[in-house]
Amino acid sequence: MKYDVLIIGSGPGGYVTAIRASQLGFKTAVVEKENLGGICLNWGCIPTKALLKSAQVYDYLKHVDEYGLKAEAIDKDFEAVIKRSRGVAEGMSKGVQFLMKKNKIDIIDGFGKVKPGKKVDVTDKDGKVTEYSADNIIIATGARSRELPSLPQDGKKVIGYREAMSLPTQPKSMIVVGSGAIGVEFAHFYNSMGTDVTVVEFMPTIVPVEDKDVSKQMERSFKKAGIKVMTSSSVESVDTSGDGVKATVKTKKGEEILEADIVLSAVGIKTNIENIGLEDVGIITDRDKILVNDWYQTNIPGYYAIGDVTPGPALAHVASAEGITCVEKIAGLHTEAIDYGNIPGCTYATPEIASVGLTEDQAKEAGYELKIGKFPFSASGKAKAAGTPDGFVKVIFDAKYGEWLGCHMIGAGVTDMIAEAVLGRKLETTGHEVLKAIHPHPTMSEAVMEAVADAYDEVIHL
Ligand SMILES: Cc1cc2nc3c(=O)[nH]c(=O)nc-3n(C[C@H](O)[C@H](O)[C@H](O)COP(=O)(O)OP(=O)(O)OC[C@H]3O[C@@H](n4cnc5c(N)ncnc54)[C@H](O)[C@@H]3O)c2cc1C
Repeated sequence: MKYDVLIIGSGPGGYVTAIRASQLGFKTAVVEKENLGGICLNWGCIPTKALLKSAQVYDYLKHVDEYGLKAEAIDKDFEAVIKRSRGVAEGMSKGVQFLMKKNKIDIIDGFGKVKPGKKVDVTDKDGKVTEYSADNIIIATGARSRELPSLPQDGKKVIGYREAMSLPTQPKSMIVVGSGAIGVEFAHFYNSMGTDVTVVEFMPTIVPVEDKDVSKQMERSFKKAGIKVMTSSSVESVDTSGDGVKATVKTKKGEEILEADIVLSAVGIKTNIENIGLEDVGIITDRDKILVNDWYQTNIPGYYAIGDVTPGPALAHVASAEGITCVEKIAGLHTEAIDYGNIPGCTYATPEIASVGLTEDQAKEAGYELKIGKFPFSASGKAKAAGTPDGFVKVIFDAKYGEWLGCHMIGAGVTDMIAEAVLGRKLETTGHEVLKAIHPHPTMSEAVMEAVADAYDEVIHL
């Protein structure tokens, strides 16, 4: 069977690429070995947000008296919380199935392996191999939880993110290793549900890729919520021979033994590049990633790669954007290359974190003279009314030309606010233009305008 475009993997990279390819008139197929929608819909972005919503509702209920309300016998049903999350994921996967049908995209069930001569072998669950060929083969096989040699995952006491979002019973205590977005989201979820959580982070701050002010605020908020945070610390080994887990943690002050029911390893991802035929075709990889150019072409003509399997931020919106760019280029459209300096990153704990562009340290290192503004939500009427005054918006401008270099937010709902900074930066706006764009009152988004005003010494509500 011959296709114009054949994609291996149906995550937000693969399925979005397939839809765009079909819109462009290509005869398109997607090969998938598991569930349509990939990690994002089934084991990542969406089911975690469903869990976090349950945590948020539960947190509201626990503090209902602060809103002048009364509720009795507040409790949780952990199994039902997990079931809801799995149900949301299942529904989303079915939605992708509908979209494939609507766009006349063939779904091929099985494990795809590229071969020379623009061919792909697909092995189905019964072991039957079928050969397909395509003018353009796009590899979008994504990634899985990374295992550290000191922290081998047994799926029961030392777990990865898949187990963490489908545990049959709630652990009483949990050690979360790694404080990137995944670690922090699970730490918040389990803490809200009543698990005793300790976060162990190798770097000197939690959420270490964020601006230092954001990291500090997150640590304050976590500690206030009762989460123990150990920075500049690393888990050296785990002993799972007893009832729970004993983790040996190296800290600045020496070694400490932590005990917990479960250890969640959230130390990053490992790409799915094994046994997919890369060596047979001669496709070059480097440090676990498939190397591509601006248009996602590998070194072998006709073979492309997008999403987590390539270098760059491992995010769903990046995978989708890369796939769209890739097929638009194949179709001969004058599409723009992706600007990796303008990609928003979000963490959906409480408080939420959202950022884009350079941090203060990065901007200083790049030699810019800076104008920095900051507006705390404690001065925002909307945040006060909502009972969510923690956090701030911080904006960073180049003093000379007014370029908006970075925007960093922490607080309630900021993941929905960061798009303003992404769009502003895309349109090369200046601080004064943002200031003169009237923001509605009362909203959390006013904090962006006020932070910009603060950078230019025109802030009103501080
Ligand atoms: C817990 C968690 C939370 C996350 N939250 C967010 C978030 O909030 N926002 C965000 O932007 N990102 C988030 N991410 C990251 C996001 O899920 C990934 O960046 C995104 O899914 C990558 O998309 P992809 O298409 O490259 O690969 P994937 O989504 O990994 O999809 C790859 C697909 O390929 C299939 N596959 C692999 N090998 C083969 C083969 N040989 N043959 C056939 N099929 C194959 C897999 O089964 C899978 O379905 C999260 C990740 C995790 C783990």
